[in-house]
Amino acid sequence: MSGRRIYFNIRNKISCLLNPALCLSCGIPIRAEELICEICFSALQQVQNPCTGCGLPQKYPGRLCPTCLHHHPDWQHMIAPLVYTGSVRQIMQDYKFNEQIHLANALLSCLYGLYQQRPVEILIPVPLHPLRLLERGFNQSNEIAQVLSRYLNIPVDNTSLQRIKSTQSQSGLSLNKRRKNLLKAFAFSPQQPYQSVALIDDVITSGSTLSEICKQLKKSGIEHIEVWSLARTLRHE
Ligand SMILES: [Zn+2]
Ligand SMILES: [Zn+2]
Repeated sequence: MSGRRIYFNIRNKISCLLNPALCLSCGIPIRAEELICEICFSALQQVQNPCTGCGLPQKYPGRLCPTCLHHHPDWQHMIAPLVYTGSVRQIMQDYKFNEQIHLANALLSCLYGLYQQRPVEILIPVPLHPLRLLERGFNQSNEIAQVLSRYLNIPVDNTSLQRIKSTQSQSGLSLNKRRKNLLKAFAFSPQQPYQSVALIDDVITSGSTLSEICKQLKKSGIEHIEVWSLARTLRHE
């Protein structure tokens, strides 16, 4: 754990002790078991009627969008409840770059019900390359997986899936270049066979990384793959 993160953790714990029930986002008093107030939570933009394949908004609930009906994604089910914009984007960026983990945890404390009752036996966070992990000090997807694991009582496997190629940033690349960039970027060697897994990512953008990982997971015989995230961008690629 990096020094900065220890500092933030201690600061947050002290602030929770001194102010036992204040919204972590705006600071108004809340019920003791809550972390974020209803006003702040309702200000977060949620995806309306998300497609169960790609997570993009639909007219009607519980359906696959025409794109996913025509060509189903490499996973069976996606959950990514928030739109990656405005304050959600701010919270996720603070999470990733300023180690403000408590806010993302507060979001999960309001949302974990969405991930309950899914047929999943293990949570697998999307890994960072070891060099990136060293640089950042933590893997934000692993942190999310650990919080979900506590709420849902599903274990985390953060060793079987490894990022073995340090890929350049995916943003700004065409879909073809993204795919090329990701070829052989991941290796999966589970200690025990799994039937159904949830891949955990902090934010869904193009899904190219997840598709590449799905290929590796399927090679090991996993039949049911879900993708769980906190937020997604609203572009179909
Ligand atoms: Zn608030
Ligand atoms: Zn879709």
